Amino acid sequence: MPIFRPTRRRRPDAPRLGSAPTAITRRCLDSALACALSAYPNEFGGVFRSDEPGVITDLLLVPGTTAGRRHANFQLYMLPADLGVAGTVHSHPSGALHPSEADLSLFRHWGRRHVILGWPYGKGQWRAYDGNGNETHLDVIGPVVTRPEAPPVYRPTGPVPAVARPTEPVPDAE
Ligand code: ZN
Repeated sequence: MPIFRPTRRRRPDAPRLGSAPTAITRRCLDSALACALSAYPNEFGGVFRSDEPGVITDLLLVPGTTAGRRHANFQLYMLPADLGVAGTVHSHPSGALHPSEADLSLFRHWGRRHVILGWPYGKGQWRAYDGNGNETHLDVIGPVVTRPEAPPVYRPTGPVPAVARPTEPVPDAE
């Protein structure tokens, strides 16, 4: 009886694209927490991408996502067919870190890893879940993102004009 052997052997520890991520970059997690903070008191929702196998590297803000006090509505059909999509992230302004019934149904239908961020969105205020809503672990990897020194502030004598600021990480309120 012939024995079938794979012609190419993979290292057993080599992650595959499409396998469940086991880590998230600190930069990506920090920007999700910053988005959650700026959306407060509304919910924030986004999608995670995995650029390197096994690691969540990017946060996508989904066009058409409407944030409300109770829930963020994901418009997932807006997403490109992208194998790098690893899961979802959304915030709970209530501070609860466990998934709601609606969250569980989202988790089951989309992606491999899901993160819930809880008010006040400090370093430890998040939990990761798998597609069944079971709590799981994600390593946080990569350098701590330090903010560049703030430029000198120009103080006009008249009314201060509104300034559109780019989204950037906000320091933890700890
Ligand atoms: Zn939720």
